Order: sequence, then C-alpha cells, then structure tokens
Amino acid sequence: MKNKFLILLMALFLLIFNFNAFANEGDIKTITKYSNKDGNPIYIAPSESSEIIGTAFENTSFEVVYGGESDGWSQIVAENGNVFMKTEDLSDQKIEHGHWVSLGKYKTTGYCNCRKCCGKWSGGPTASGRYPISNHTVACGSLPLGTKIMMNGQQYIVEDRGVTGRHIDVYYDSHKVAYAHGVKYIEVFRWVE
Ligand SMILES: [Zn+2]
Repeated sequence: MKNKFLILLMALFLLIFNFNAFANEGDIKTITKYSNKDGNPIYIAPSESSEIIGTAFENTSFEVVYGGESDGWSQIVAENGNVFMKTEDLSDQKIEHGHWVSLGKYKTTGYCNCRKCCGKWSGGPTASGRYPISNHTVACGSLPLGTKIMMNGQQYIVEDRGVTGRHIDVYYDSHKVAYAHGVKYIEVFRWVE
C-alpha cells in the first residue's frame, strides 16, 4: 500500500515537472545589444536581398533573441514580429566617444565603512545613496557625484563626500587595507563624454 502511494506520488511529480519543462520551452530569452553606428539597416528577413524596413542610429538598443545570432544575422524583438540585423552591426555595449583628461595630482587616502572612518555614517550608504564597493567607490568633495575617474589604471566612481578640495578618499572593504593606503599623491584622470 505504501509503495503504491509512493509510485503515485512520483508519477504526480513527473507530471508536474514535465508540464513545467514544456511551459518553459515557449519563453523567449533576449539580450540587449546596441547598433554600433548610424544607418545600420534593419531587414525583414535574414538576407541582404530582403526588404530593408528601417535603419538604426548608433547606440539604439535592441532586444536580440537569444540564439538568433547564428549565420551572421541577429533576430530582433519587434512589434511586428521578426526583424533582423547583421550581427556585425550590433555591439554588447554602447559606443563611447569620451576620453580621459588629466586633472593633475590629488592627495589620496583610504577609508572603509567602520566607525573610525565614517563615525555616525558607519555601515550606511554613501552620499550618492549607493553602498560603497571596493575598487569602485571613492569620496571627493570637489568633483560631482557620478564622475568617472581613473588612478593608476583603476577606474572609480565618485560616490561619496567627506573630504574637501583636491583630495580623494579611496574606499576599501577592510580598515587594515584602508589604513595601509596611507597618504599618496596620484595623478587623477577624469572621463569626459
Ligand atoms: Zn575604517
């Protein structure tokens, strides 16, 4: 009797599992990609001889159907169904035209999220509202929040305040590492769009 119940239970499990597997087959997975220049043609079928129904500006984003990138063509999710772009006309990331500009040397120090470094703000978010991340967050009082900077080849975002003037406080996950930073004068580059 117990065995029969177990078999029934297993059968029920298999039924549910198969039903779910079947339901998932219909899901479309997409990846966001960007047109890599102005005027990239959008085709109605994956062929250069097919009708061109429009062109894409640089950095226009498209949802590309996962697995649709084969044979040099990418299938794009559109209201009217299947449209296609050449895979070579799409990039995973937006094209950036900006460049690094040297701001000269800044005084740099290190800090962490402990009570010694942050006092009453210890454990909380940065001035930007985001939680600090090592190798990413710096504090600076003289550059706008969100400024992308580079020091010694490492990129950071100004996300915090707490220091003034030409001073950058570099965030670290541990107080020991932050303390070990000491005081260094480092050339700072700012990303300009
Ligand atoms: Zn600390």
